Amino acid sequence: MLSTAAKHSGGQEQRYIGRFAPSPTGPLHQGSLLAALASFLDAKAHDGKWLLRIEDVDQHRTVHGASQAICETLEAHQLFWDGTPIIQSDRDARYIEILQQLAAQERIFYCNCSRKLLKQHSGPYPGSCRKHKQAHYRLATATEPASHAIRFDVGHKQPRQEQFIDRILGPQSFDIGALGDFIIRRRDSLFAYQLAVVVDDADQGITDIVRGADLLDSTPWQILLQRALGLKSPRYAHLPLLVNSADQSKLSKQTGAPAIDNSQVVTNVLRALHQLGQALPIVPPSVTSTAPSKRSSLQDPQLVRDILAHAIAHWDAHKIPISPQLITD
Ligand code: GLU
Repeated sequence: MLSTAAKHSGGQEQRYIGRFAPSPTGPLHQGSLLAALASFLDAKAHDGKWLLRIEDVDQHRTVHGASQAICETLEAHQLFWDGTPIIQSDRDARYIEILQQLAAQERIFYCNCSRKLLKQHSGPYPGSCRKHKQAHYRLATATEPASHAIRFDVGHKQPRQEQFIDRILGPQSFDIGALGDFIIRRRDSLFAYQLAVVVDDADQGITDIVRGADLLDSTPWQILLQRALGLKSPRYAHLPLLVNSADQSKLSKQTGAPAIDNSQVVTNVLRALHQLGQALPIVPPSVTSTAPSKRSSLQDPQLVRDILAHAIAHWDAHKIPISPQLITD
């Protein structure tokens, strides 16, 4: 029998591989739990797999112990991933291979533009270093640290509209000419998120990406990289962002979002389901009571599994609200 979600995708059962890809810059907060839960439920409602990837490509932002804390929070919420997680910091050799492929296609170049120079241009990257393609071919294929960034040449300097369909937000168009050549390896030799995410999604066979709408602007770049590498683009679904009620800023570690409390698992899951516009199971009020004597039921693994099973059976991505939501509690 088709799940609700499979019916919504046109009635065809397709192979589905989803993922959650947290950056270990701190513990999960309510916004990141929302992305974890939505991507998990969407995968399970499609009888798919749900993979975990630790996105520690920016090692300067990695917080010691954060990966472990993230895994513990997922497990406490009964969100168990399939297979072994991949860790981006283990994958430099693979990213170098991809750089070599792009260099051979003359799609990348070394860039030594100073921040000052770039600030003088208000629009996309002006292309000042594009002429370095040939001259720096050898460097682009080398593994030694370079003192220059490497940019991807988006390929179209004239306005040209392209589209992709977001499962939540609908058709999205972008102008390739306005995107600008973007950095795929940084001046400090660290690989950029845009490159790592495309390579990892492809290597993990990801068919569906469910993530926060703060990454919507990155999607066109990722699609262009996928095309250059001959990869099929996954389907995308960008979730509404949770914002702080005071100033509407995105809930994030930077804006002081508190860590998820693993002793309130039932409340956390029910709140996230509500924020995702999903049907809630009937949970006796005594369970969600904040009375100290009831605290243990808020972490009852069987109760959480029952709530998740209900959420999978009733999952409907069309019910996810489109606009950002305010946190009311
Ligand atoms: N690592 C990113 C983050 O934690 C998510 C990247 C993605 O889902 O593509 O915000």
